[in-house]
Amino acid sequence: MNKPVFARFVPKQKRFQSPKYQGRVLAIANQKGGVGKTTTTINLATALAAIGKKVLVMDLDPQGNASTGLGIGRGERGNGAYELMFGSETLENVVKPTKVPNLFVMPSSIHLSGAEIELVSMEQREYILQNAITAQNVAFDYVLIDCPPSLNLLTLNALTASDAVIVPLQCEFYALEGLSMLVKTIERVKNRFNPRLDLHGILLTMHDKRNNLSNSVEEDVRGYFGDKVYKTVIPRNVRISEAPGHGLPAIVYDMRCIGSQAYIKLAREVIRREKVLDDNGTKATAA
Ligand code: ADP
Ligand code: MG
Repeated sequence: MNKPVFARFVPKQKRFQSPKYQGRVLAIANQKGGVGKTTTTINLATALAAIGKKVLVMDLDPQGNASTGLGIGRGERGNGAYELMFGSETLENVVKPTKVPNLFVMPSSIHLSGAEIELVSMEQREYILQNAITAQNVAFDYVLIDCPPSLNLLTLNALTASDAVIVPLQCEFYALEGLSMLVKTIERVKNRFNPRLDLHGILLTMHDKRNNLSNSVEEDVRGYFGDKVYKTVIPRNVRISEAPGHGLPAIVYDMRCIGSQAYIKLAREVIRREKVLDDNGTKATAA
């Protein structure tokens, strides 16, 4: 059932060319849990789809929150990330449409939690996802990979398969803890496995402007990372946390709430940053 839907979005003339991945792959990563990775993946993807981009969310977290948040419940997931990585399914067979036009999801699958152990003994184990993606004839403008809360082999696979990384950072006391390790990991992946990888940007999430702590975290992060920090800040907003319970992106659940508006703004900023990269002739030096 997925095949024809998927095929609609693959331009005819490209379907028969040699397999070549087109579009931008962005990993949403931070080894800390609860910082807004999944929320950012879902809502940035929805906002990009709403402005006409063809978007695929890859749920690489065995918890499967991105799948649930996009309306694919546990029982409906079937094959997904695991089957794609380990070669028993093609991307077009595991991609499912969502309620949002232009937005598709490759769900997490129950076997994904065992993938880490299986990957350890595999040759070229950091390249499994990239190889699986590039072997397909697919055409999306953006692929957003929701990473698990760990710097494990699944995350390394996501980074190796990506053009750039978006790092959500929760505006709280320990926000910066672990960030240097993440930045080092990105550097290591860039040096060893994927020279095109860059830090796309750092996104401040769950910001509360009445809270001094939020403001001082913002000041510290901007002081240290400068322009790498997106101008757009995602406010703490209860509507955002309610939306996944309805299997809907916040932008669909309540487009007008301040959280949704912030994600719409973020999508524009992400695209602008991509244009700057293109104009500079190198995507490896994001603004
Ligand atoms: P991660 O994927 O990094 O573990 P999530 O995106 O799942 O983080 O977010 C963790 C929790 O915080 C979820 O319950 C989510 O609904 C909530 N949350 C995320 N962003 C916001 C926000 N801007 N305002 C309020 N709650 C948020
Ligand atoms: Mg998550």
